[in-house]
Amino acid sequence: MTISRYLAVLGLLAAMASNAEPVPRWQQSPEQLKTSITGVRAGADLTPAAWPEGARIAVGLSFDVDTELVWLEDREVQSPSTMSRGEYGARTGLPRVLALLSRHGIPATFFIPAMSMELHPAIVRLVKLDPRHEFGFHSYAHENPLRLSSADERAAYEKGLEIFVAHTGIRPQGFRSAAWDLTPATIDIVRSLGFVYDSSLMADDRPYRLMSQGKDAGLVELPVEWILDDWPYFQLDWGDGQVSMRNADDVFSIWRDEFDVAYDEGTMFILTMHPQVIGHRYRMQMLDRLIVHMKSKPGVWFATHAQIADYVADRPSPGSGVPAEEQD
Ligand SMILES: [Zn+2]
Repeated sequence: MTISRYLAVLGLLAAMASNAEPVPRWQQSPEQLKTSITGVRAGADLTPAAWPEGARIAVGLSFDVDTELVWLEDREVQSPSTMSRGEYGARTGLPRVLALLSRHGIPATFFIPAMSMELHPAIVRLVKLDPRHEFGFHSYAHENPLRLSSADERAAYEKGLEIFVAHTGIRPQGFRSAAWDLTPATIDIVRSLGFVYDSSLMADDRPYRLMSQGKDAGLVELPVEWILDDWPYFQLDWGDGQVSMRNADDVFSIWRDEFDVAYDEGTMFILTMHPQVIGHRYRMQMLDRLIVHMKSKPGVWFATHAQIADYVADRPSPGSGVPAEEQD
């Protein structure tokens, strides 16, 4: 067998191995199935016994300023129409959002991809006008980490952080995955880059400690939810076949009820919005009404995600002595 023939056979064997049919889930042992599920889990509930100044609930409003990148990277489309929809977020939506927050005197967290700052440096200046607001990290160019190797994921975040710090002058405390999803490597990368909380997962409505491979990951999780996100309700996305143009009253009623129950529970209400989605006129009216409703109740603590994460990090809730796996 010649060397080249030998190498060809080796290549064929490697290809066969990589194309091997995965074992169907129903044929896997309980131990095998568990390894698919238990990589990243929810640990202790971190709802504190009391929020600052006796508040009943913590409210964290976040705005993901994805601009053109959500179309360019996630949807892989690049046309003047889609780019202009992203531009709307920076040019029209964000100033409206900031004006509303200013009128109500409340802070928010702005998760901004580094490339959005490069494309629209004015958005950083605008957000900075109110020192109550927080800048959170939201990838380099809205890349989906599930499409990257762990080395590439780390390189993307390192490159993004450099740009982020150059524009904002601060190192962010908060990480939000552009895909609202993590790879097996993400937690180690994020922790080594100095983040103190993640806001991408959905195991609870309450803040919780993030577990990785059965161990405390060293991060607070401030969970998100698709029902508490403006994109699925409102965004028109032909490429995804998503034609969501909901009446604002429908969304108002869902978000108000979510808030009201969170208030009764004494827990937390995290809402994710995008200036290019929520920033349209009738939707901003609805957000205004929602904030008025929340402010009508006593003991509502409007805070940035970092303030919430800092507050709960060292203040275990009364029930948090229960091991993570037993809380399921
Ligand atoms: Zn995003």
